[in-house]
Amino acid sequence: MSAPKVGIFGLTGCAGDQLQILNCEDELLRIAERVEIVDWVMARSQNDSNTPLDVAFVEGVVATERDLAYLKSIRARSRTLVALGTCAVWGGLPAMRNELPREVLRREVYAGGAEFLDTREARPATDFVPFEFRLPGCPIERHEFLRLLNAILCGGKPEFLNVPVCWECKTRENLCRVVHYKEVCCGAMTRAGCGARCPSHGVPCAGCRGPVEEPNYDANITMFQDRGISWVEIARKMEAFSAPVWMKLGLEREHARERARGGRS
Ligand code: SF4
Ligand code: SF4
Repeated sequence: MSAPKVGIFGLTGCAGDQLQILNCEDELLRIAERVEIVDWVMARSQNDSNTPLDVAFVEGVVATERDLAYLKSIRARSRTLVALGTCAVWGGLPAMRNELPREVLRREVYAGGAEFLDTREARPATDFVPFEFRLPGCPIERHEFLRLLNAILCGGKPEFLNVPVCWECKTRENLCRVVHYKEVCCGAMTRAGCGARCPSHGVPCAGCRGPVEEPNYDANITMFQDRGISWVEIARKMEAFSAPVWMKLGLEREHARERARGGRS
């Protein structure tokens, strides 16, 4: 039986998730024995962009018409599609500035001469086509990627932690950044899997892995506000990595309230 054909692709993004795959140095040779990577522009100079794929991994957001056409063509040739990283799953950093018109962004970034850019509002790839699996992280965690790949190759479904970062943080016996230092830590709303890396190094969680299932948004806002942390601080932090989803969950409502009070718009 021939090895499953695999493609790895990047839309608009930093390629950090693809780099994490390359960083699986100890496992790369074994991966290469089990799959045939036929299309991976970042790592190969010759690629087959037509062969049907058993598994395709897609990183990044849709931020141009070209991204969208590319994503649809990948979906059409792939049996199993995996969203790789927080940009593909939730919108990530590129979605942070969607509130600004694209003409303003084009002018600020390129200072003219970039009219050819078919830019559009940055949205997660998962908004446009169905995906069989979603692997958040900014970047993804290598151990989660390997577990997911192994499960797909075995025809199974990987089990990932479905608890907030606080759970991992507590098991590491860290002093809570919110309770003890009155800092904005997104750990209670963010999906675990990173081993609470940031709070374990004395830095509050920035929410880079996106929201945990059913985050208690209102309780978190109240918890921060009870400690005298301003709405502006909370909103800036929460919007950084997963703006579209937080908008859906309630930041839009808070924005409206703040505007009514004459504050941040
Ligand atoms: S430091 Fe952050 S991640 Fe850790 S328990 Fe406190 S809120 Fe949760
Ligand atoms: S602690 Fe938060 S910001 Fe740090 S790696 Fe984990 S999810 Fe990302």
